Amino acid sequence: MSRIRGTLAALAALLLPLGMAAPAADAAGGAVAAPVLAPVYTHVDTEDPVLFITIDDGWGTESAAGARKLLIDRRVPASLFLLPGAYQRDMDYYRTLLAHSPARVENHTVSHRDMTTLTAAEQRAEICGARDQQLSAFGDSPQLFRPAGGQDHQWPYYNDDTRTAATACGAKAVVTWTHDLTTWGSWTPPTPELNRGDIVLLHMGPQLEGDLKRVLAAADAAGLRPARLREYAHAAR
Ligand SMILES: [Zn+2]
Repeated sequence: MSRIRGTLAALAALLLPLGMAAPAADAAGGAVAAPVLAPVYTHVDTEDPVLFITIDDGWGTESAAGARKLLIDRRVPASLFLLPGAYQRDMDYYRTLLAHSPARVENHTVSHRDMTTLTAAEQRAEICGARDQQLSAFGDSPQLFRPAGGQDHQWPYYNDDTRTAATACGAKAVVTWTHDLTTWGSWTPPTPELNRGDIVLLHMGPQLEGDLKRVLAAADAAGLRPARLREYAHAAR
């Protein structure tokens, strides 16, 4: 028995640095395997006068030069939830943006599939795969994970397997959003009153510059400054 326990302890020590679920002691003192669920944020509870700007997917950079200039000039610490297939089309755009602004790239899966239709192993391949590609492309590991909307947009876009896989792949949190303020086609959503801790969702593309101007003006009017989401959304808070 003690040999088995010793083997388990050694196995746990090996698994911990890989971010895998660590065995936890139950109330009776026995060892149970407890999956570590990443926390989910649709909003951040904070006393700081901040909000969070997130930009998804990454397609359409060829018509988003103005948006990049704005992000750089205003030093916006945007969280970019990019798809490898999108940033690989225009690495110069993102490398320049990351070099000259406080923006960071976060995890949005490899292929934008609906997590709730995938097995636990498939979800893990999507999230860890995107993490690995980002690390080699940008030299920086994502710390947040945003599940993709899926084709039929049935909420929620994640389940407990997603939260476990996010932890295993190095994410500190699963992040959704408080307000989707993306202009789609000719329709611009009304700008709500923004509050501290709000997470705003935008998308890369030709509409981004206008959307950013609108959101930054609303943030200014509310006395809020953009802050970096990875520094606020994690389990310790
Ligand atoms: Zn997306």
